[in-house]
Amino acid sequence: METYLKISQVGKQFGQFTALNNISLDINKGEFICFLGPSGCGKTTLLRAIAGLDLASSGTIEQAGRDITYLPPEKRDFGIVFQSYALFPNLTVYENLSLGLRNQGKSVAETDSIVSQWLDTIALPTAGNKYPSQLSGGQQQRVALARALSLSPGLLLLDEPLSALDAKVRSHLREEIRRLQRKLGITTIMVTHDQEEALAMADRIVVMNHGCIEQVGTPQEIYQNPSSRFVAEFVGQMNFLPASIVSEHQMRIGESLLPLPAAQFQRGEQVELGLRPEDLHFLPAGEKSDSSVLVRIDDLEFQGTFMRADCQLQGAHQLPTIKVDVPIRETRNLGLSRGHYLQLHIADK
Ligand code: ADP
Ligand code: MG
Repeated sequence: METYLKISQVGKQFGQFTALNNISLDINKGEFICFLGPSGCGKTTLLRAIAGLDLASSGTIEQAGRDITYLPPEKRDFGIVFQSYALFPNLTVYENLSLGLRNQGKSVAETDSIVSQWLDTIALPTAGNKYPSQLSGGQQQRVALARALSLSPGLLLLDEPLSALDAKVRSHLREEIRRLQRKLGITTIMVTHDQEEALAMADRIVVMNHGCIEQVGTPQEIYQNPSSRFVAEFVGQMNFLPASIVSEHQMRIGESLLPLPAAQFQRGEQVELGLRPEDLHFLPAGEKSDSSVLVRIDDLEFQGTFMRADCQLQGAHQLPTIKVDVPIRETRNLGLSRGHYLQLHIADK
């Protein structure tokens, strides 16, 4: 695959503060990449270094084989959309879209035709004469996206473009961005703190924490094989259960002895099992297995297609709450309700 953007050992200092610490990352042509991490981890700073809105303190950034590390933004080749719509409020939608095209030297006729094509593409064919304030948040964000893309940049940068929108609009625009991106084949980086959004949209996710990259991988890789506890906790739900290895074949969790799911542990070792809520199963009342432990159901949360049960291991009050996802159709057969005791089957996938 062809590398389009090459980030090599990029650092960024704000005075004494290290916002980016030795970031290296290759992005392929046509990829949709998400920078994912908690607020303050450096996502925007990295995006701004790629755009030239801030300059890296160290390292290099190459785009399409060209060293752009110290180029001003106007000499770079990207379109950008921010969280706040950033359209010119005193210009109409048409004027917002035509400004950049005219600056690129396009004729009035050419500009008209490109603008009307883009208004069709974003399903706002008659919005040209409106002012941004006359549009909804989602519509303004579509115009901002059209404005960024209409200049045919080589790279699309999106900084939390959906965060200010309500859930319904957000999920709609998610699909629209992804559809457009695929159609145009444009290399795209989207910053988000929303793991669900990253899992749904990205070809690859770059998980960041404290100015460092924690893990890079496809959504499936990140979800199924998180490389650190941080990633496991940040992406999806994960239960961590402390276990001690008592023999080659057994571990102890709380008061219960269970078969060891994986054999690479040493006797006496203290380990933490990472278990997704959907990988845990309650056994029907009266049943028990070698790998099950008795838990008390403390709380139930309806989630639409499943019920999330908070439960507590018996005889182990210091252990954290275990979250278990139960498909709705199974909840009645199990007699799942608060205060009940059930056997929870704990095993490797
Ligand atoms: P994110 O986008 O992941 O929420 P940012 O990249 O905006 O995080 O910020 C990373 C860190 O750098 C934060 O701690 C922030 O306070 C700091 N920071 C960002 N910009 C500046 C700046 N211009 N001056 C000083 N500190 C900054
Ligand atoms: Mg940010």
